[in-house]
Amino acid sequence: MKLWLGNIFNYIRNLITKDVAAKNESKKLIVIIRILLLSVIVCLFLNGIICISQLDVRTILFYGGFLAVFIGIFALSYRYRSKIIFWMFNIEMIIWICMILHMFGWNIGVQHFLMVLLVLSFFSSYKQYAGKIFYAIFLCALRIVLFYIYHEREGLWSVNAAEINLLQVINTITIFWCISVIAFIFSNNSQELESKLIEYNIQLEKQANTDTLTGLYNRRKAMEYMEYLLKNQSGSLGFSLCICDIDFFKKVNDSYGHDFGDEVLKAISRLFMDEIGEKNFVARWGGEEFLLLFPECNGDNAWNILEKLRRKIKELKVKKGDMEVSVTMTFGLAEYDFTNGLTATITEADEKLYKGKKRGRDIVIF
Ligand code: GH3
Ligand code: MG
Ligand code: MG
Repeated sequence: MKLWLGNIFNYIRNLITKDVAAKNESKKLIVIIRILLLSVIVCLFLNGIICISQLDVRTILFYGGFLAVFIGIFALSYRYRSKIIFWMFNIEMIIWICMILHMFGWNIGVQHFLMVLLVLSFFSSYKQYAGKIFYAIFLCALRIVLFYIYHEREGLWSVNAAEINLLQVINTITIFWCISVIAFIFSNNSQELESKLIEYNIQLEKQANTDTLTGLYNRRKAMEYMEYLLKNQSGSLGFSLCICDIDFFKKVNDSYGHDFGDEVLKAISRLFMDEIGEKNFVARWGGEEFLLLFPECNGDNAWNILEKLRRKIKELKVKKGDMEVSVTMTFGLAEYDFTNGLTATITEADEKLYKGKKRGRDIVIF
């Protein structure tokens, strides 16, 4: 029994979710229209059963005709573009609503199916906003016209109060179900899109802020972070800023090749990331230069950290195959103390770096 139900469920699911013929179309709208078609077919079938007391050639032709057209549209949904199916569904629904009103009168609530068309139209991505608004006005006008024609008029077929109640309940359930399906699928989809967009933006921001070779922050992010530090200074301490540069790096490239030079840059970047400390910041400032920031840290304390870093870099051995190389770095350190501007502090650190190079390299100058 379970297997049997499972098979039916899978069969219906495949019927509904089979792809559209046109390759460049989203599947979403056609899947919704197929669900709506199936729902209306079931609703129509139940309506027919309730009206079995009137079973004659007219009823059979009426229900049989509509069932055949709805099933036909369902079958065509595998062949034609969603736009064509959308309009076939809408036109057929409007004809069906008018005919049912004509046959049964106002009280079985079939006119509310117009709301399903309204919601479907607004969620579908086919029409421009003007088209959607125009269609909404048309549906509203149609609803008012139908009200004036049918609200006090008896239907052609006489149905008793119990049958009217039953038809009303079935139609109401189908209408609520149809609107819920449309809203659920589209809201689910927009939530999915929204979270994809957020994730994509995070990735994009990360890419824009990261140096591809070393994985460190880039110069852009370093500038942004310094602006942030200036805006959000807490306490009386400013920050210390250091620019450092690998000594004789050109020689490493010349002797071991550019790729090996890249490996050295990566190894030094890893060491910076591991050793700089959580509170501090490191970025690739350009080429073989790095910028280090020590928020709320005076020059003397920053100097101590940099001295440790300088020694660790000197001890670092970068290996590739049977090649092994060690490099040293020179550091220029300046303190940002509110009186100097940011540019002046960067220039000061640069000058101190230059001084260190002149003094023989492998040194921290403050
Ligand atoms: P100094 O001690 O005076 O700084 O000497 P240096 O050789 O390091 O200085 P120079 O500015 O003459 O050379 C820097 C070299 O860094 C030149 C350039 O090819 C190399 N370089 C810059 N960016 C990269 C990179 O991304 N990868 C590699 N492998 N080399 C780079
Ligand atoms: Mg250099
Ligand atoms: Mg340089």
